Amino acid sequence: MSLEMLKDHETVRTAPVSEAEALVDVRGLSLWYGAKQALYGISVRFPRNQVTAIIGPSGCGKSTLLRSLNRMNDLVPGVRVEGEVLYEGVNIYDPRVDPVAVRRHIGMVFQKPNPFPKTIFENVAFGLRLLGVKGSELEDRVVEALKRAALWEEVKLSGGQQQRLCIARAIAVEPPLLLMDEPTSALDPIATQAIEDLILELKARYTVVIVTHNMQQAARVSDRTLFMHLGVLVEEGPTEELFTKPKHPYTEAYITGRFG
Ligand code: ADP
Repeated sequence: MSLEMLKDHETVRTAPVSEAEALVDVRGLSLWYGAKQALYGISVRFPRNQVTAIIGPSGCGKSTLLRSLNRMNDLVPGVRVEGEVLYEGVNIYDPRVDPVAVRRHIGMVFQKPNPFPKTIFENVAFGLRLLGVKGSELEDRVVEALKRAALWEEVKLSGGQQQRLCIARAIAVEPPLLLMDEPTSALDPIATQAIEDLILELKARYTVVIVTHNMQQAARVSDRTLFMHLGVLVEEGPTEELFTKPKHPYTEAYITGRFG
């Protein structure tokens, strides 16, 4: 499966999303980490109030594409982007757009849950705040205090609970778009199912894009699926069709487990 063969290949599309249906419209997006190109001219639309899954072998650019949707890649030194990502019709890569404002409007849930038990936190933080301690120093000192008081282990939530807390934190500001990067990869099957059920409920209010290396998960939770390989968007379409009637030979090879 060579990149040379894929690079100039048009993405195979089934039931393409119209401009009117799209919350996010990616146009000819290429991305380089320094000299290394990670995305090749990706064009795809993400429809409102649907779940879109991004699948493909490790290193194919799934996370890079996801992080391009809220300009998280800008935080990596040496990144260069070409093309456009239109969010509600506005190109978020326009020089006049503030990346911090973009990230505030688009919720993101990471592979490893990174929560904090807020009410307990606020209790412990109270005195520190009065002293003017802020930011990461405040967090570190609260955690340290909880550990020293032998409370830290008790207030710890299970992995699944932590991830749901992080989802709650992400949706608290009602972001129209919710990005999830392998949200269940660190969880057991029961916690995974709880998160998958939650994702299905969330799409009534939000547009969800989820990266997963688990094809069964993509089949269970998503309406549409993107299949990527070597930084190229090979095929996209309704999930059921992509899994039962793949049109590109690479898609078929991947979903039948012949590579990746
Ligand atoms: P996936 O999510 O499909 O596993 P990634 O988007 O993480 O793929 O990576 C795509 C390619 O970009 C890989 O070759 C990876 O090594 C490279 N890459 C990812 N992040 C960085 C980075 N911060 N610096 C340099 N190269 C990176």
